[in-house]
Amino acid sequence: MEIEQLLILVKPDGIKKSLTGNILTKLSESRMVIIGAKIVKVSRDLAEAHYCHLKDKLFFNELLDYIRGKIYGEPWDRVLAFVYQGEDAVSRMRKIAGATNPEEADHVSIRGSYGRITTKGVYENVIHCSSDPSEAAREIKLWFKPEEIVKEIYPVKKIVVEKE
Ligand code: GDP
Repeated sequence: MEIEQLLILVKPDGIKKSLTGNILTKLSESRMVIIGAKIVKVSRDLAEAHYCHLKDKLFFNELLDYIRGKIYGEPWDRVLAFVYQGEDAVSRMRKIAGATNPEEADHVSIRGSYGRITTKGVYENVIHCSSDPSEAAREIKLWFKPEEIVKEIYPVKKIVVEKE
């Protein structure tokens, strides 16, 4: 199995609803390691770059306001950003995160447990999780400087995981 890295964001609704602890607990079931972590006030440029694949969607502007926390205001207008590393990290974390539409997500997944669609149609799905390894690499470069990632394992390098 490949050692992969991926970007996780606890979105502003996750922070506002005090879900950070619950989310990190669920993610920790994967036994992956955190190799980068920080809180970010998301600029419009960063939000646009992160979601560039959705720029033609009708909900794009609303999505930018959501990820920037504009619809919640201070002190919720920020995200927690993490880089995780582990075997098959992307597909395993996507499973724990759940489907994009929180109403269709598995009930035991993070999005299925804590997400909702608002009356204005915003998919409040509490976390972002990279969708494939190449997207993950692009996103990690966008959100983190190399020196913000634990040095000896950036870029991708095999790590030894002790068996319990
Ligand atoms: P993800 O990788 O599962 O987050 O899915 P996407 O990259 O396709 O979408 C990015 C984010 O845009 C999602 O997490 C949702 O917050 C939002 N989104 C995606 N599809 C829709 C939609 O059909 N309607 C609305 N309102 N938001 C959406």
